[in-house]
Amino acid sequence: MVQSEEKFEFKAEVKQLLDILAHSLYSSREIFLRELVSNSSDALDKLRFESTKGTSINDSSLPLEIKITFDKDNKWLKIRDMGIGLTKDELIQNLGTIAKSGSAEFVKSLKESNQSADNIIGRFGVGFYSVFMVAQEVIVTTKSYKEGSPVLEWHSDGLGDFAIKELDEKFERGTEIKVMLKDDALEFAEEYRLESIIKKHSNFISFPVLVNDKVVNTTKAIWREPKSSLNDEKYNEFYKFLTYDNDNPTGVIHLAVDAPIQYNCLLFIPKKNTDPFGMNREKFGLDLYVRKVLIQHECKDLIPEYLGFVKGVVDSEDLPLNISRETLQEDIIFRKISSSITSQILNFLTKKSNDEPEWFKDFWTEHGKLFKLGYMDFSNQEKFSELLRFNSSASTDENELIKLSDYVSRLKENQKEIYYILGTNRAAVEINPHLEIFSRKGIEVLYLYDVLDEFVISSVRKYKEYDFKSVDIADISKIEAMRDKVEEVKVAPLSKDDELHFSSLLGTMKALLGEKVTDVKESKRLTSSPVCLASVDDGMSDAMMKMFKMMNKDESVTKKILEVNKNNEVVRNLLSIYKKDAKDEFLKLAVEQLYDAALLLDGEFSGAQSMASRVFVMLDKSAKMYQK
Ligand code: ADP
Repeated sequence: MVQSEEKFEFKAEVKQLLDILAHSLYSSREIFLRELVSNSSDALDKLRFESTKGTSINDSSLPLEIKITFDKDNKWLKIRDMGIGLTKDELIQNLGTIAKSGSAEFVKSLKESNQSADNIIGRFGVGFYSVFMVAQEVIVTTKSYKEGSPVLEWHSDGLGDFAIKELDEKFERGTEIKVMLKDDALEFAEEYRLESIIKKHSNFISFPVLVNDKVVNTTKAIWREPKSSLNDEKYNEFYKFLTYDNDNPTGVIHLAVDAPIQYNCLLFIPKKNTDPFGMNREKFGLDLYVRKVLIQHECKDLIPEYLGFVKGVVDSEDLPLNISRETLQEDIIFRKISSSITSQILNFLTKKSNDEPEWFKDFWTEHGKLFKLGYMDFSNQEKFSELLRFNSSASTDENELIKLSDYVSRLKENQKEIYYILGTNRAAVEINPHLEIFSRKGIEVLYLYDVLDEFVISSVRKYKEYDFKSVDIADISKIEAMRDKVEEVKVAPLSKDDELHFSSLLGTMKALLGEKVTDVKESKRLTSSPVCLASVDDGMSDAMMKMFKMMNKDESVTKKILEVNKNNEVVRNLLSIYKKDAKDEFLKLAVEQLYDAALLLDGEFSGAQSMASRVFVMLDKSAKMYQK
């Protein structure tokens, strides 16, 4: 008795996707087969996992394999697996919606992108639906591993809906996908073509893939092979199979660890960061196997997030086969494996950074942004600190990177701190007046261009015995006491009398600026600039303070000390005006202008209007004076 059919509509996002699939041109439609074979392999993995747990299973004596058959004359291709199969609810749920989170985004990116659609499908893996690139109709016959499950048929032409009915036929556990090929896709009913696609995309599937009863893939778990039997070509092939990346990896870590815990791992560092905007940051992890049985794909608990760029496979003999995904984290052996892997990766990076600095620089450029999050990994802080890289005043250009041990090797006598400054780029940092005393004394300063860098530094806190200190809250008296690097051409010192006038000028300036500043003081840190704003050291750098204010939507300007450089030409000229007439009108304009300029350099300026009108007045005055 054939049951009547039930019709269902695809979810909106599936319809959109199917529409795109039907109307795009593809350079490699063949990846549909990779998607179907990998679904079959997942279904077999899940079955093996269930049977190791002791779950009772339909047709339990079936071989775990994937069979591909075809008939070019009748234009069909079948992919049959003996995996877990699907129940009716699963058919509706899994083959009617896009299971992946962020599916809407995916469809959007497919629409907006000018990359070829198959490229994106390759990266995101829309899976099952990609079959509609080559199919005019798809018929899925399936029987779930759960006892008493019926044989079901799902079919669709991939336009708007699909239908499900129960079949009254004999069909053993698992799933068969019958693809009715489009007329222009008959190449996928050719033995040679199918074999080569399987070899290219699905070679390392851990179950036999048979084309017309002949096994065509290598089912070797290559992570278990001795290193001597492998070479770059084999590693690269496996990496591409695992990640769908077109590039070869830039680093391979292949380990067979015996004590104290046995595990094998084969890890890769991709050449390029495929997630530059951090959109897919939660999608990371290594594939966890126990005695060659896949326990969890992309297991996040195996590596910390900051090493999320690492891809690969881990396999252990010491974990119980029936370990559940939920209890992994509580398993002591598992935790030891994961911490061992973390240190192996850090060791690998350390070795590379010492032996091949250029390699490490490229690595840092690609993966540094994520890697920096390692500041939260307190147990590996020492190794992590050695791997940190910064631009610095000792670098010749913005792209050069230095390590902290280099910085420390260049410390000045009596220098107890590692100084840093935050800015958007090198040019912006270099005009910061706070740097002047550091360059006068020849003290190196780290240049931080990423706000995250300051988080990194303030949570790492120190390197060896040296604390990190932002230049704007550095103790200037300590630095002042150090010897100058080059004897600057000294400006003649102020006479005793002028010193007195200068201090009273500072008082007048304070009176003119009033509430805008906490104080006006002589500066010890400036060499060339006339003025700068300095904050009182309360342990928080200026940049941090700004961050906090931003987070609290606090738009007030932080009150600071205006420091005045008495050796600067402008200040000296103001002093002579002041001596002639302490109430001179120009003096007031100049002081306000100096304060605004300091604010501007400090990144807190908002008084464009009043500054512009003041500049016009001053230009007018100076132009008139110039003509005299
Ligand atoms: P993905 O495999 O990336 O989750 P797919 O669209 O390829 O997305 O498949 C959706 C779901 O349908 C799978 O997650 C799986 O649950 C189910 N599925 C697909 N193919 C099979 C199969 N051969 N056997 C059992 N379940 C399958």
